[in-house]
Amino acid sequence: MIFDTHCHLDFDAFDQDREVVLARAAAVGVARFMLPGVSVNNWQKVRDLSAQHERCYYALGLHPYFLNQHQEQDLILLEQELIKNSSDMHAVGEIGLDGHLKHLDEKRQYYFFYQQLKLAKQYNKPVILHVRHRHEKIVNAVKELDFVSGGVIHAFSGSVEVAKNYVDLGLKLGLGSVLTYTNSRKLRAVVKSLPLSSFVLETDAPDMPMRGQFDRRNEPCFITQVLDALCCERKESREKIAEALWKNSLSLFGMEN
Ligand SMILES: [Zn+2]
Repeated sequence: MIFDTHCHLDFDAFDQDREVVLARAAAVGVARFMLPGVSVNNWQKVRDLSAQHERCYYALGLHPYFLNQHQEQDLILLEQELIKNSSDMHAVGEIGLDGHLKHLDEKRQYYFFYQQLKLAKQYNKPVILHVRHRHEKIVNAVKELDFVSGGVIHAFSGSVEVAKNYVDLGLKLGLGSVLTYTNSRKLRAVVKSLPLSSFVLETDAPDMPMRGQFDRRNEPCFITQVLDALCCERKESREKIAEALWKNSLSLFGMEN
């Protein structure tokens, strides 16, 4: 069984054929899907989808990409959700820092990230982290807050050293389409040198297409290509790898089975 720990099935890209997409994924063994929140505008939809589909779960958060939409009051709403829907809301995310988004105010990005990390700590929820070019700031914030509720670095593509820093802090690394790319030497070194307990799988669908599929929408069913790429780099059997990653995903989101 496979857990797609990061897919945006609520996005418009799936409005026409969401049921078919879910069925296609189920046919290749994808048994669970985590739908992250990105701004208050999509919270209702991820909640609804998780209520409608037994295999869909949700997280709520304020993504740095939508920084200019976020308001102070959204943090209060997030806290209310943590209080009200604590057993259904499996993580705070996706949240983080994106150094690529030059048009966004860096201080404001950090503020929203830090406040959400604090809330996750207060309510003991794992975090789904979006990090581009800001690994050091994230690591420092996690240390500073003594954040021990766990989480995942979504679409990880950093070095072995950065990977180890995260794993030492109790965070997992989300492996996605980057591992299928021919030029992913750095990430392959990471998946070779860290224990299996460090990883979970994800697609980030409809974004981040797999190798050779840049002209089409990404879908959770393609997650098997990430698993295949991982198996090429590891000595363990495919069954053992899949089972370990499934268990890692459950423990990441505090699910018993
Ligand atoms: Zn995402």
